[in-house]
Amino acid sequence: MESNEENKEKKTIEDLPGVGEATAEKLRENGYDDIMAIAVASPKDLSDVTGIGEGAAAKIIAAARKFADIGNFETGEEILERRKSIQKLTTGSKNLDDLLGGGLETQAITEFFGEFGSGKTQIMHQLAVNCTLPKEKGGFDSDVMMIDTENTFRPERIIQMAKSRGADPDETLKRIHVARAYNSHHQILLAEKAQDTAKEYNIKLLIVDSLTAHFRSEYVGRGSLAERQQLLNKHMHDLLRFGTIYNAVIAVTNQVSARPDVFFGDPMAPIGGNIVGHTATFRIYLRKSKGGKRIARLIDSPYLPEGETVIQIGEDGVSDGT
Ligand code: ADP
Ligand code: MG
Repeated sequence: MESNEENKEKKTIEDLPGVGEATAEKLRENGYDDIMAIAVASPKDLSDVTGIGEGAAAKIIAAARKFADIGNFETGEEILERRKSIQKLTTGSKNLDDLLGGGLETQAITEFFGEFGSGKTQIMHQLAVNCTLPKEKGGFDSDVMMIDTENTFRPERIIQMAKSRGADPDETLKRIHVARAYNSHHQILLAEKAQDTAKEYNIKLLIVDSLTAHFRSEYVGRGSLAERQQLLNKHMHDLLRFGTIYNAVIAVTNQVSARPDVFFGDPMAPIGGNIVGHTATFRIYLRKSKGGKRIARLIDSPYLPEGETVIQIGEDGVSDGT
């Protein structure tokens, strides 16, 4: 997968033999806007939307399948080998690390969700600092990329947190690469382009804070839900692929909204529904408690028991607070 990924330049639908300007326009209008969409289409569907014959459509599909990175089969042995290289990044709290079986895993997406002010952005700052720390301090001694969608990245907080871990604040700031995403399309593009930056620096942590805010504000109403979920799904898979290729931790944040259908227990549910839930490997629900304390609850883990723990968020960052 890795070599495929790197050797192939990004093709557009115009690169397909038999697709001229007029056909490309009709394809785009009907949602066939990239190679993958065409690779998995049927000749009949393409013929219907473009007016070209089914035989010609079949040839275009065959060409798209050659270009598309549909993914290869791996043996169980290869997958085991890849999983052996999984590393764990400390959260800064021993309690939370223990709950997660040692910290945030590489090659997986960890989602932190909770209400406004529950500490999601603070934790993202802390993870960024931790990634730059040496291995004996639970770090990766590596660079970080952050996609900031709400303009909440604060270098001043990084400085405070770096100092409290005994790290050089200026050196730490130099290793954190931040991009502001102005809308959901921009956010998706930044994630696609993240690989270019990752080739230049040794990136072992990719943060998206917030994963869902743009999607939530841009796609309102029932009619746009399917499109929103489809885009979010693609975005999550881009992130996961990055994590797999670079053996990196992917950390994302998500808000909660009140579910009108829940009358008992906690009615707050994360945004993005099943799409986000199924692609994130680990989900952590954050709730405010007294005096800077937060309750972190691990939900739906593939192999860790559910459970919760208390963490502290203070001026010096994330800790057990004891
Ligand atoms: P979210 O991203 O979940 O909306 P934040 O991560 O922005 O929430 O959390 C904000 C909270 O973090 C504040 O209410 C405060 O409790 C804590 N916090 C932020 N900065 C500091 C600081 N410098 N010192 C202590 N606590 C802080
Ligand atoms: Mg935030």
